[in-house]
Amino acid sequence: MTLRLTTIRLALFVGALIAAFASFALGQRGQTAPLNVVVTVAPLRGIIEPLLPPGSKITILMPPGRSEHGYEFSSQDLSTIAKSDLVFYVGLGLEPRLEQALKKEEPQSKRIEICFATALGIKSDGHEDHDEEPGDDHDTHDHAIDQHLWLDPVLVKRVVPHLGKAVKNAVVATGGAEVSAETDKRAQDLAARVAGVDEAWRARLEPFKGRAIVTHHNAFPRPAQRYGLRIAAVIRGLENAEPTAAKIEGVVRAIREEKVAAIFVEPQYNARLAERIAREAQVKVARIDPIGDGDWFSLMEQNLESLVTNLGTK
Ligand SMILES: [Zn+2]
Repeated sequence: MTLRLTTIRLALFVGALIAAFASFALGQRGQTAPLNVVVTVAPLRGIIEPLLPPGSKITILMPPGRSEHGYEFSSQDLSTIAKSDLVFYVGLGLEPRLEQALKKEEPQSKRIEICFATALGIKSDGHEDHDEEPGDDHDTHDHAIDQHLWLDPVLVKRVVPHLGKAVKNAVVATGGAEVSAETDKRAQDLAARVAGVDEAWRARLEPFKGRAIVTHHNAFPRPAQRYGLRIAAVIRGLENAEPTAAKIEGVVRAIREEKVAAIFVEPQYNARLAERIAREAQVKVARIDPIGDGDWFSLMEQNLESLVTNLGTK
């Protein structure tokens, strides 16, 4: 009897040990494999989030309410990156200090990096694939490559499979269980949703083909070109300096000459100057946001809504 009891106790003990070990092993292998992800600009969060295993955490490095240009990554940002499993950034010189830091990294680092521009083979020294009309003397671009890749739904759709691969690699690198099937499914769903955004922009902007707009800074050449709008002028340069009087005069002239429907101001900049220009050129002021709060789908929907509403009337 005593012996039987002891055997049962021993069996229970061994069973508990096995259960404990199994749960430890599962925990170690991270069956759900949440990832610690860092993105630079807010909209990248909305693009990568749907692909991540449940419980993953995303940190946006650039604080809301400011321009994405000339942001200096702090030492704290760099240490946040150092502790992350996966970094998603734009490239093309938008995040120079981050790119430098990633280059200097120790080779044994397991972190996975994905650069939007590199993934799509877009190079900063490459020729920009935009139509430059001969005689187009308006200062519509800074003759630098357009870094705002996330504002073009076609490019976002193209980057999704690369992001899916990066997520799978990050899960494996952190010792998580294989998540290929789930991630592929998520990537398919995401690509389909992004394709829906592209279709909506195409369909709803179709009636406004050839219309000209003015934007606060030069963030929208890609969507403009893709959906048939023209950027007649931009108010600010990418270097964040205040525009000169000559520049302002040029914007007013472009608004008149190109029958611009509206000046689209961006929440990251003070609207006062744009309002002054609008009064002078007798054009309305509307809103468009290149950054948003991290929800890419809502950003794209609100921008499309604003364009359609404000292109409708002169
Ligand atoms: Zn910008």
